[in-house]
Amino acid sequence: MREQESIRSIKGIGEKTEKLLAKLGITTVGDFLRYYPREYDEYTEPIGVSQVTVGKKCAVIGRIVGKVGVNSTGRFVIVTASLKEENSVLQLTWYNMPFLRNTLQSGGVYVFRGMVVNKNGRSIMEQPEIFGREDYKELLHSLYPIYGLTKGLTNKFMVKTMHRILENKEIIQDYLPEEYRNNYKLAEYNYAISQIHFPKDRKDLLLGHRRLVFDEFLLFILAIRMMKEKTQDTRNSFQIKPVWDTENIIDALPFPLTNAQKRVWNEIEKDMTGHTLMSRLVQGDVGSGKTIIAFLAMLLAAFNGYQAALMVPTEVLAKQHYKEMEKLLEQHKLPLKVTLLTGSNTAKEKRERYAQIASGDVKLIIGTHALIQEKVEYDNLALVITDEQHRFGVHQREDLSKKGTKPHVLVMSATPIPRTLAIILYGDLDISVMDELPAKRLPIKNCVVDNSYRPKAYHFIQKQVEEGHQVYVICPMVEESEGLEAENVIDYTQILKEALPPNIVVAYLHGRMKAVEKNKIMEDFAENKIQVLVSTTVIEVGVNVPNATVMMVENAERFGLAQLHQLRGRVGRGDAQSYCIFVQGGKDVQTKERLEILVKSNDGFQIASEDLRLRGPGDFFGIRQSGLMEFKIADIYQDADILKEAGEVAGTILSLDMDLSLPQHARLKDRLLSYSKEKMEMPGI
Ligand code: ADP
Ligand code: MG
Repeated sequence: MREQESIRSIKGIGEKTEKLLAKLGITTVGDFLRYYPREYDEYTEPIGVSQVTVGKKCAVIGRIVGKVGVNSTGRFVIVTASLKEENSVLQLTWYNMPFLRNTLQSGGVYVFRGMVVNKNGRSIMEQPEIFGREDYKELLHSLYPIYGLTKGLTNKFMVKTMHRILENKEIIQDYLPEEYRNNYKLAEYNYAISQIHFPKDRKDLLLGHRRLVFDEFLLFILAIRMMKEKTQDTRNSFQIKPVWDTENIIDALPFPLTNAQKRVWNEIEKDMTGHTLMSRLVQGDVGSGKTIIAFLAMLLAAFNGYQAALMVPTEVLAKQHYKEMEKLLEQHKLPLKVTLLTGSNTAKEKRERYAQIASGDVKLIIGTHALIQEKVEYDNLALVITDEQHRFGVHQREDLSKKGTKPHVLVMSATPIPRTLAIILYGDLDISVMDELPAKRLPIKNCVVDNSYRPKAYHFIQKQVEEGHQVYVICPMVEESEGLEAENVIDYTQILKEALPPNIVVAYLHGRMKAVEKNKIMEDFAENKIQVLVSTTVIEVGVNVPNATVMMVENAERFGLAQLHQLRGRVGRGDAQSYCIFVQGGKDVQTKERLEILVKSNDGFQIASEDLRLRGPGDFFGIRQSGLMEFKIADIYQDADILKEAGEVAGTILSLDMDLSLPQHARLKDRLLSYSKEKMEMPGI
């Protein structure tokens, strides 16, 4: 079995399963191996009956007292047994497993593992797994993987299939030369993969994790540095001069630019009219007003007779930017045309738009990665901007740059990365920081609550909608997934529909929907045809609906704080007071303390570093790390040290072998190519 092979080559995977797996972004054996668990279930030290806590999953050791009972309710056969320790009693219950009557011995000692609930004042463990004492010892401290699923797939299937693939030893020959592995104390790749799925214990998981994080950074850095021929010091062959029109547009804006916006705009203008090509990263917190700066740069190119392209990660965002640009052109009666290129264009639309672009008739081009399809030919492209770039492999930008003479490059990002790390990740990009939010914005009011607050929250949502506003509700999952206790978009939408009056339209949005469906929902939301939008973090990327004033995040503890901060940037964009309700699953005090940082601070950098301080390195269990920059497993904050090491290794490799043509780098090169493809095809959350 090879990693490039289709998953159909795995025994037991047919057409139906193939389709289901495709929803998770898995099409090859390698994809399957790199589908990492969302969390782990640990086989913890068994406790005694008196130490059991209601509401928690645990392993309990005890002797069965009395008889093993069997009752039939007509619908179910229920097997019951009891464990006793001094004054504490724990009842065990199984549904529809009558055979247990013969397996479980009265007076026998076992380890039972399951969730403990309270029913009528009694502690009951429901459907526990059963282990012999010795059998459990073997499992002790190992971790059982829990995968994100889609309807029709079970965790058991994922585990079984993963085992099956891993049995083929060394599917992937390690592509990292041994000397680096030794120097940086990195685990071998196959070992790392096997430990990330089936860790012997936490220590081995950390080892595996470290290696995979390293790889993810290394590939990212190599991809950027290799594809980017140094634009710095490349002569600017475009004849671009400052124009009055951009100044007029700035003067006519309904708001004054912030000082940070003015400074960054000056930097960009200077770059584009200067002697060398621009290669600049603009970092600005959510809501700092990056879009208008991007537009000004595009217009500057267009007024000088050149084309400018703006690439964004989602169709929804592309459409939104397109409309805003159109409005701006109309408002100023500018003789410039803008066009939209996305995957859902019809064949006819595509033909027409390609022709307009090729002839130079259209100067402003906005779109998704449809912008870099083979068939798009630009007339005289002078500027490429990617907005919210953390959603793509940066090399896509490079593909776009290759479409003409090398253009100016501008990258916009809301991810608050410390400068030192940004330099490692992006190499020789110049960095502008927009460290100021527009004045006069009312700060968002935040609160951290537990589930019991929900009725109040729904009431508040209803009131806000009745006042004409709109609401986002964020859930960590798309749909129900066994073993993962977190709210999901599909079921939650139903719950909200029932909780809110029927005249309030509730709809949902997630990354597994088709692009046209997503567009429709987002358009309807922008036009207030939908008042409450239940969504995964797909919404995080740049969408601007100023009328939305409430964001409620379910299972907020499952997100990194920096990501929550970006999420809340979707509200507080208009004149009205906005609110953020972070709902914490459970009542853990430390979790609450961590989330409270969001209440105290509104500074992306500070939030990210506080989050790191509180969580401490190595605490990556259960929190979604991949939110920022679309890393699957790496976390730029938590893994900053590994990032630095990966930067060093990338530097060494490239200084020896700029295009990875040496034989010892052949496998690394292959991996890099498939990595770049994976990045492009990564499905939404
Ligand atoms: P982001 O930096 O997150 O991309 P946007 O460009 O989407 O932010 O801007 C967020 C909102 O702020 C938009 O509605 C935009 O019109 C508005 N805005 C931008 N600049 C200013 C400013 N200087 N003063 C007031 N509002 C502004
Ligand atoms: Mg934006």
